Amino acid sequence: MIIRDAKFIISAVKPEQYPEGDLPEVALAGRSNVGKSSLINRLLNRRGLARTSGTPGKTQQLNYYLLNEDFYFVDLPGYGFARVPKDVKAQWGKMIGTYLDKRENLKLVMQLVDIRHAPSKEDVEMYQYLAHYARPHAIIVTKADKVARGQYQKHVKIIRQTLGVLPGTPIILTSAETGLGKQEVWDLIAKYVGV
Ligand code: GDP
Repeated sequence: MIIRDAKFIISAVKPEQYPEGDLPEVALAGRSNVGKSSLINRLLNRRGLARTSGTPGKTQQLNYYLLNEDFYFVDLPGYGFARVPKDVKAQWGKMIGTYLDKRENLKLVMQLVDIRHAPSKEDVEMYQYLAHYARPHAIIVTKADKVARGQYQKHVKIIRQTLGVLPGTPIILTSAETGLGKQEVWDLIAKYVGV
């Protein structure tokens, strides 16, 4: 897929703020620091469109990016900050829950997990949301360049087992550093959004 145009549209916290129209949406979820901004920038061949790292816990919004006027990337707020107050966590859950439950435009959720670590409690919770709302989803393993090729399968197995990944769920190894998996991710997106 060739991305001719990518632009930030809006940060939304509630359904009234979601963009109007029926363009398909691909959401990206993951723990803070998982490499979400880096992967988005790599997929779009752009630097700095999606903020890298930012301020922990501050970006509690759904960030919409319009691609080629055809579909949206929806960058879901990163989770897993240790010192986020309980009410912020509850707010996060409500916002994500509402989005996953109600948003018809949502065609695919990509949940990112770092190849080096066993999924955290929050990763498991996020996955359970996806399974609960029966949303089409894929697991995107980030930072593959950080481990040796020969170790890939071992790490993938830990991720699959810890999350309880449903049979048939795509798991794609990626690296924002080397570009590994980029084509596979675009093929997956094309299949779900039909572009
Ligand atoms: P975000 O908080 O999920 O948006 O994470 P970032 O994209 O800001 O990445 C967090 C850190 O991991 C940064 O220091 C990145 O340079 C690093 N990082 C992200 N992706 C990769 C990758 O594929 N390989 C390596 N080696 N480092 C990465």
